[in-house]
Amino acid sequence: MPIKSRIRTIPHYPHEGIMFRDVTTLLKDAVGLRTTIQEIVNRYRTSNIDIVVGIESRGFIIGAPVAYALGVGFVPIRKPGKLPAETIGCDYQLEYGSDRIEIHTDAIRKGERILLVDDLIATGGTMEAAVKLIQEIGGEIIECCFVVDLPEVGGRDRLEKQGQKVFALCQFE
Ligand code: 5GP
Repeated sequence: MPIKSRIRTIPHYPHEGIMFRDVTTLLKDAVGLRTTIQEIVNRYRTSNIDIVVGIESRGFIIGAPVAYALGVGFVPIRKPGKLPAETIGCDYQLEYGSDRIEIHTDAIRKGERILLVDDLIATGGTMEAAVKLIQEIGGEIIECCFVVDLPEVGGRDRLEKQGQKVFALCQFE
């Protein structure tokens, strides 16, 4: 398990009762980083992806090298107010309060084949918002890809019920 065994768990972060899966220990490890990127790249090598879209901020760390290796471009989805040109945004609920993500309206052309990337899926709220943004500007989402899935939290089911394909390199209970 070159990937799962390199992910550190921090109990009670950022709140009491949360087991935070810390991917910095995976990323700093040469074999861990290379295996992570290669496994994702191998999966999508023949999928005719046009653009990899990564979600701020850990989705950038994974998504950009995947795009580079696939020989395609990378597009960031960012927190509010960070992108300089015209954007569209989507608000979504968190356990405490709400958040928002944004994308440039001209980042994707209609019909482009999109791979969406983030480090981890829990409730799926963040990725659901990202899916809405891509759909709004006309991208065709090929799959939502994660390093870690927390299946008991239900995000994968939520996305699959909406017709999205979901892939993760490893799972934590
Ligand atoms: P969701 O929206 O699916 O509930 O939460 C996923 C988002 O929150 C991702 O962008 C992810 O980076 C972050 N996140 C939530 N919990 C964790 C965790 O335990 N570890 C890491 N690395 N990120 C988390």
